[in-house]
Amino acid sequence: MKLCRFDRDRLGIVEGEDVADVSGALGAIPPARYPLPKADLLLLNLEAVRAAAVELLPRAPRLPLRSIRLLSPVANPPRIIAAPVNYPAHQREASADGGVHFDKDVRTIETYGLFLKSATAVVGPSEGVALGFPDRRNDHEIELVAVVGREGRCIPRGQALDYVAGYAIGLDMTIRGPEDRSLRKSPDSFAVLGPWLTTGDEIANPNDLLLSLHVNGELRQRASTRDLIFNVERLIEYASSFYRLYPGDLIYTGTPEGVGPVRAGDVMTCAIEGLGAMTVAVR
Ligand code: MN
Repeated sequence: MKLCRFDRDRLGIVEGEDVADVSGALGAIPPARYPLPKADLLLLNLEAVRAAAVELLPRAPRLPLRSIRLLSPVANPPRIIAAPVNYPAHQREASADGGVHFDKDVRTIETYGLFLKSATAVVGPSEGVALGFPDRRNDHEIELVAVVGREGRCIPRGQALDYVAGYAIGLDMTIRGPEDRSLRKSPDSFAVLGPWLTTGDEIANPNDLLLSLHVNGELRQRASTRDLIFNVERLIEYASSFYRLYPGDLIYTGTPEGVGPVRAGDVMTCAIEGLGAMTVAVR
């Protein structure tokens, strides 16, 4: 199932070029009271919402996909957990271009571990990316994102995919420079997520998906998640050995080679096999 959030927080099921409006299924989320759980409420109640959505589907109003505004399919991710230098070819390009990485000797995720990106940076494709520092180098990084569906810690890699609700396309937008990653990668709108949540049952193997990113029609990034250094299962095992995972946590799995700058007025087109495509404007 492909679940989208659109327009004014409506819930849709994407079918081909159409969206079925199943917003009534959000009634399956129990009213929240202070203090809120450390989880996104939709992901916490996904099974109930999904069952209600399936029931509404035959009579749901249909809208053309291109007429709606797509928001982040996860509205309130507790965290964005992200993988630095998780493709060998990206390590090579970062080593060759001092503008990408400010360490003289660029290592991989095996040395750096993980980093956190502010969850408040998350936006959907229709909201676009706003460059607060247009004179700095602002790079695109397309990444497969795994969306956590179950709470857990110390999850062995053999069970890791049981903890994934689904997948989406992520853009880990980045200001290049010597400051800490958590600063440079967390401006508002620097975590694009979309175009929708594709549930895990539709993706047989997340570690065998083609990714591509074009800027103004020019191909910049094209790779396969086959080349991940830490694959999705290992990322979940590793992350959950440090902290308990919660429904709605986003795991940005790292970007392949081809990163490069964008400027106001550019349009990025991102696609991942099985997850769809999204267009994101830069301003
Ligand atoms: Mn990244």
